Amino acid sequence: MSALVIRGQRVLLDGELRPAALHIDNGRITRISPYEGSTGTQTVDAGTKLVAPGVVDSHVHINEPGRTEWEGFRTATEAAAAGGITTLVDMPLNCIPATTSRAAAEAKRIELASQLHVDVAFWGGVIPGNVGELEGLARFGVPGCKCFLCPSGVDEFPHVGKDDLEEALPVLKELGLTLLVHAEAPGPLEVAEAAVEGADPRRYDTYLRSRPARAEDEAIAMVIALAKKYRARAHIVHLASGGAVELIARAQADGVAISAETCLHYLGFHDGDIPDGATHYKCAPPIRDAANREQLWKGLERGVLTQVVSDHSPCTPALKKPDTGDFVGAWGGIASLQLGLSALWTMARARGHGVAQVWRWNSEGPAQLAGLQRRKGKLAPGFDADVVIWDEEKSFVVKGEALHHRHKVTPWAGRTLQGVVEQTWVGGKLAYSAEAGLAPAQGKFLSVQQ
Ligand SMILES: [Zn+2]
Repeated sequence: MSALVIRGQRVLLDGELRPAALHIDNGRITRISPYEGSTGTQTVDAGTKLVAPGVVDSHVHINEPGRTEWEGFRTATEAAAAGGITTLVDMPLNCIPATTSRAAAEAKRIELASQLHVDVAFWGGVIPGNVGELEGLARFGVPGCKCFLCPSGVDEFPHVGKDDLEEALPVLKELGLTLLVHAEAPGPLEVAEAAVEGADPRRYDTYLRSRPARAEDEAIAMVIALAKKYRARAHIVHLASGGAVELIARAQADGVAISAETCLHYLGFHDGDIPDGATHYKCAPPIRDAANREQLWKGLERGVLTQVVSDHSPCTPALKKPDTGDFVGAWGGIASLQLGLSALWTMARARGHGVAQVWRWNSEGPAQLAGLQRRKGKLAPGFDADVVIWDEEKSFVVKGEALHHRHKVTPWAGRTLQGVVEQTWVGGKLAYSAEAGLAPAQGKFLSVQQ
């Protein structure tokens, strides 16, 4: 008899909802049997609530060590567990030291020991001059490395140029690592910034005009050319330019190994939603207009974009400059980790998508990108027993005090979202339940070997 059976009338298996029972031993799903008559030493019956894979968020900034006052492993993973997210991949910047060497990765791993409520992997970083560190990062277990093509906002993570990528890409390819790119070209940004000089910094329009879509489009064209030249794998993080979807689609049709994600806030908001001074909407690239948002949705629906992530990037409330509403001076980054599943479901359902599509975007796609596709993102024998039991009919109003993020500032506050997490299981252990709240931290670090 299995140690644990989680069963229900609506279990998401291979893109379909059907009655089934998940048998779980030693943290893994060992087999899947019919619902009727399946029990374990412990049996959890979800009834008609949805039983689905735990969500994978492959784009999260946790900022620890070094900027733990912005966010930390304990608070971020508590928020994840409460939001039905069972795996996070932490970005290499905003923590100090930045994750650009094996030694830095090891230091971060020590920092997070015993704090994890869900499983966590790391991205490494590519900065000028660290090509010699990439092999060590691969051995440590990062699935890929991220770079910036424009200033990142923190001094410890300088941006790279084309020459740096010409050096790094063949090495990444050899190591089996994906290059993740913050794709905004510095040239068009400088021109645009000069053009808004003297404009009112409280106006959202001032900030939006300072980061035009052509900066993304130009950078993405360069990344495509380099990925093609070196036959390397590249991934565009947080795509905000709807116009770039076509560029990426053409490259994919041409056989270039390029993928892209977009974020909750680009799908949920447009510039008309953002009042002047409302700096909690500030992120880079910026939230653009409604027609652009429609292009991003179309990109997802066509399968050009394969995933939706939070890009949870919080800071202390003061750095958002709420007193002055200064869009130019405020930190760029939106906090939304805990809300990802419900926010995406609310938006996707309104567009006629079902839960299977939502889980392709928020679990299968991110698991694939992070090299975790053989253990995360699906309910199947051999996969980790990461499960969310979810009531997709129930709605709630987002209130800051219900968020486990270290800071409660988020542009989603006050909005009504659909879908409430009943239980989150990580590796066959209950991590969160609506009834009892958070369980003690039992998540683990994931080393990803390509
Ligand atoms: Zn980010």
